[in-house]
Amino acid sequence: MARITGSVCRLCRREGEKLFLKGSRCLSDKCAYTKRSFSPGQHGKRRTKLSDYALQLREKQKVKRIYGINEHQFRLYFKRAERERAVTGEVLLQLLERRLDNVVFSLGFAHSRSQARQIVRHRFILVNQRPVDIPSYLIKVNDVISLRKDENKLKLIRENIKVNKDRLVPQWLKADTDNLQGTIDRFPKRADIQFPVREQLIVELYSK
Ligand code: SF4
Repeated sequence: MARITGSVCRLCRREGEKLFLKGSRCLSDKCAYTKRSFSPGQHGKRRTKLSDYALQLREKQKVKRIYGINEHQFRLYFKRAERERAVTGEVLLQLLERRLDNVVFSLGFAHSRSQARQIVRHRFILVNQRPVDIPSYLIKVNDVISLRKDENKLKLIRENIKVNKDRLVPQWLKADTDNLQGTIDRFPKRADIQFPVREQLIVELYSK
């Protein structure tokens, strides 16, 4: 994962929109972007017209930051998407959505993708009853995501589920919060992506 030093809220301010990197804080009045919706730094309030290249770059950076991955990993996803016989941008987003840390977050088991990544790394997540500690692990249809029996961690997950109860679980996933498990119904489609993204800009950027 990309190592982010300093406040992640700077990333939202840099991208000019909320990236929801801090769980429930993002929905509260404490959100740094709500308070200061301009870029960080001395010249943050300056308005400049972005070139086509800058727009493409910003879109790529935004997606990388939302999923918390570094440039190298992102390029690998792009190369893999390019090899598929489908729309590259859509395949790219599908691959990112299928990451195990994203699935754990989307099921409501974690308040943010970074917390989900930590939960996965701590070998707390089981995929088809086997522990998987690789956040980038790509889930498959019919995989069952469940949790290792560890009362401390289960308490944390139950709290997260309670806090996230109003967050919609994407339709390609089925969450069974009573039994603390989730199932992959199908692969995500473009319409399932829950944040605004213009993936075509990313494809144009990497196609130069
Ligand atoms: Fe972004 Fe959340 Fe920080 Fe607001 S609180 S700036 S949405 S990370």
